[in-house]
Amino acid sequence: MQRYRQLQIKLTPQRLAILSYLNGNKTHPSAEDIYKAVKKQFPTMSFATVYNTLEALKNRGGVMELKIDDKRKRYDPDSTKHHHFICTKCRSIVDIFKDYKLSLPDELKKGFDVTGNSIEFYGTCRKCKKGSEQ
Ligand code: ZN
Ligand code: MN
Repeated sequence: MQRYRQLQIKLTPQRLAILSYLNGNKTHPSAEDIYKAVKKQFPTMSFATVYNTLEALKNRGGVMELKIDDKRKRYDPDSTKHHHFICTKCRSIVDIFKDYKLSLPDELKKGFDVTGNSIEFYGTCRKCKKGSEQ
């Protein structure tokens, strides 16, 4: 939670509830997931508050917006370098911390300043694969 205090966003009780839900969360929740979870604790919480808080966090590097799920934006509080796998059946997203050494494509070798990359894997997760085999 300490790192969120350094981001200099106004910390209301509602925002703190959003932050504590995100803190260490590995599920890569959507704004809707966060809203549903935090609303239990704060029945007056609006979806706009959740969304605006996520935008403020994103702009300050407190959360990463993932576009790996084509249905909805997902959020990742872990800003360390990693890749993702998404299950196309259950939409679960798994962290992949392996470092891939990619060689730069020829098109990018001249005149481009490449500062990073991320790899997105798609397929069926272990759980869904097991389910379909029964
Ligand atoms: Zn799955
Ligand atoms: Mn992640």
